[in-house]
Amino acid sequence: MTAHLSSQARSITARALLIVAVVSCQVIPPTVPTASAKEWQLVKINGRDYISDQNVRDFYRFDNLVKSGDERLFKHRTLVMRWKTGSQAVHINNILFNLSYPIAERGGKALISTIDLAKLVDPVLRPSYIKKPIRFNTVVIDAGHGAHDSGAKGIYGYEKNYNLDMSLRLKAALEKRGFKTRMTRTTDTFLSLSQRVAFANRVDNAIFISIHFNSSGSRRAAGIETYALAPQSTSSTNGGSSWSSFLNGNVHDAENIALATSVHAHVIHELKSTDRGIKRARFNVLRGINKPAILFEGGFVTNSTEAKRIKSEAYRDKLADTIANAVVKFQRAVGK
Ligand SMILES: [Zn+2]
Repeated sequence: MTAHLSSQARSITARALLIVAVVSCQVIPPTVPTASAKEWQLVKINGRDYISDQNVRDFYRFDNLVKSGDERLFKHRTLVMRWKTGSQAVHINNILFNLSYPIAERGGKALISTIDLAKLVDPVLRPSYIKKPIRFNTVVIDAGHGAHDSGAKGIYGYEKNYNLDMSLRLKAALEKRGFKTRMTRTTDTFLSLSQRVAFANRVDNAIFISIHFNSSGSRRAAGIETYALAPQSTSSTNGGSSWSSFLNGNVHDAENIALATSVHAHVIHELKSTDRGIKRARFNVLRGINKPAILFEGGFVTNSTEAKRIKSEAYRDKLADTIANAVVKFQRAVGK
């Protein structure tokens, strides 16, 4: 598993700030790796490989590692990472990510699984080190649901209509920024999930963003969620068993999480939305896709406060602009 982790460059790259520190205009100058930097030291727990908090601090050259009880705070000049023993939540600059495995504890150390280090922490802290830099000039926008598949029934309307309207606004916002766009649907029509994937897979030099709005039986449920495909042999955030098979979409694990981070962090900061976290799932539209892909849930149409916001054109415009800005930052972060 450590094969995925480059042992060459040992600092958080300045580009991490493009995707996680959208509030700060300041950029960390990359530090120069030294020969004395330590290699990864694996700790086996229940058959799984883990890396200690101290090892992570040393490798990424965090300025400081603060231990308080079960919590660990990794401090870099303008980037802070926080995790807690027993928890699957990790915060990077106050953005919530969901780990595939809880933080483990051994001998006073809080350890992270190598899968989470390779598939989440590393691509977020060092997006410029993603192995295969992708060049894209096109965004495939997928408006979820359509026709008889109305999606969630909201207080003021059906999800399928919000998805399409949002997608058209996103199309305009991206084109204003110089991107080409392709839409899986531009009208109230039905496409199966596999048709959406087949369409997206025919588009070259592109990334894929599926737009949805959320619903819940509980009127109190609120906030933004962004999904990236679950890595091989891990469970989805919302439960379900882990799959051992490697899916086509897993080729882009690193870019998927970096894209999810950029979009999610920008939206949380700009729209001051409730942060439900960056999550993992094996949605059909993410499984078979051959390009970096995310599924974005832009709030709950079943929550009275959020439904009011979603109903407003100003909110949908702001959301579209924010996602488009996040795509620009992602492109800069992963480009060579
Ligand atoms: Zn939906």
